[in-house]
Amino acid sequence: MQLDNLYQEVILDHYKHPQNKKLSANYDAQVHHVNPSCGDEIDLNLTIKDGIVSDISWDGVGCSISQASVSILTELLTGKKIDEAYLIFDQFVALMQSKGAVSGDEMVLEDAIALAGVSKYPARIKCALLGWMAFKDASVQAQAKSKLD
Ligand code: ZN
Repeated sequence: MQLDNLYQEVILDHYKHPQNKKLSANYDAQVHHVNPSCGDEIDLNLTIKDGIVSDISWDGVGCSISQASVSILTELLTGKKIDEAYLIFDQFVALMQSKGAVSGDEMVLEDAIALAGVSKYPARIKCALLGWMAFKDASVQAQAKSKLD
């Protein structure tokens, strides 16, 4: 897989130095997502407080794309309003599904733009999306829980 060198460095940096890779003891929702086609696994804990994504923590094993992508996600979405996090989520999913036709908005996607090249490799798109789907799942559960409280 050929990715732009700079982008490759961003991905490798997150893979070697993953951010927020230590499951928080307190959370509103905990999910476990797997990508069987590659063997990637992620546990993700999420806390949403007053409509803000206040904490995302995770643990996992798998390929550099899957692990870097969730590390990038935690840095990008923590502290964002949930509506804003969903807008970023939608842009990232659209980028991944674009087959290389969309280059993405770096102002919105920040380091996640480094994964743009993955969209040209259908087999790897699920790797890049694994952590994002886990986040979306956890956010729905966390918000359902907060309505009950
Ligand atoms: Zn993978």
